[in-house]
Amino acid sequence: MDTKARQLLDKLNTEHSLQTEEYQYLLDHRNQELMDLAAEYARKYQNQHYGNKVFIRGLVEFTNFCRNNCLYCGIRRDNHNCERYRLSADTIVECANEGYALGFRTIVLQGGEDFSYSDEDICDIIRRIKASHEDMVVTLSIGERSKKSYQKYYEAGARRYLLRHETANPELYAKLHPAELSWDNRMECLKNLNEIGYQVGAGFMVESPGQTTYDLAMDLKFVEEFKPDMCGIGPFISHKETPFANSPSGTLETTLFCLSLLRMIYPQVLLPATTALGTIHPKGREMGIKAGANVVMPNLSPTGVRKKYALYDNKICTGEEAAECLGCLGQRMESIGYKIVTDPGNRAGL
Ligand code: SAH
Repeated sequence: MDTKARQLLDKLNTEHSLQTEEYQYLLDHRNQELMDLAAEYARKYQNQHYGNKVFIRGLVEFTNFCRNNCLYCGIRRDNHNCERYRLSADTIVECANEGYALGFRTIVLQGGEDFSYSDEDICDIIRRIKASHEDMVVTLSIGERSKKSYQKYYEAGARRYLLRHETANPELYAKLHPAELSWDNRMECLKNLNEIGYQVGAGFMVESPGQTTYDLAMDLKFVEEFKPDMCGIGPFISHKETPFANSPSGTLETTLFCLSLLRMIYPQVLLPATTALGTIHPKGREMGIKAGANVVMPNLSPTGVRKKYALYDNKICTGEEAAECLGCLGQRMESIGYKIVTDPGNRAGL
């Protein structure tokens, strides 16, 4: 093993902090040995804070209409071959009921930026879910909105918000997004969510088009400094109807290594083994958990719409019913010595 890489990993293990250049050094010198050691350190923290428990979040992808045109995303506005759908409030509430019965205590309402749902519509949905299931944590992931709107959703009962920062480098951000979207606004939104009191999930794509190891190191540094409660990462995966159709997808190895480093940077962080990770490798999510992740997010959307929420090609879990999805994931976790729990799944220390 590269001596300097080994020293840096040991330093990270005791100090939970490195310089951006040092993170880059680790990323540039990644090999199996270094990955194994990082995963060993990461599992120590995972075990200390979460034992062998894996938290579940039920994901309801309630609309694939989107006003945005992110260059990497399959549901971008300019993809005219995307068959659009939106779920009614009743259907969304039914998904939550089904999820609750299956043991989910967190529901994530995710969608494109679809302003046909007014703030009042969103608040109604949140209130209806909370009215039936007081102990279900409602998480939103509906993109950039005003602080006023975020405040309203909080008052209606939402307590978590997932808004990946996508990349910590403003210049790369500009290459991945259309001109009307800005890194500054994304950061402003994250700051607003924090101030309101949400548990916040940031996150980034691994090996997105044009991303260097320095950019990725910036993402690690960002997480070290911002300390989001959750950090969702997954490999970039190309989608054939986007400008990045021919860009290579991110790798399993870099994603797993980033997961281990994130766990070492912030031992209590909630770290999902994402669907994108499960898409690039049949055992991707299991490997993610073994690298330090502690959350999985099975799909609760009605099966009829799942294929249509195609952010990238070949997305997994678009066929099974919610219960099957959960059963399958439960078995997968058991196969590696972990167990899925019925629990709101707060970050350790909250
Ligand atoms: N509209 C919401 C939800 C976006 S979808 C928002 O803006 O936050 C959730 C995440 O999927 C995105 O934040 C992005 O990181 C990821 N994603 C989108 N397209 C992807 C692709 N082609 N490959 C991998 N991940 C992708």
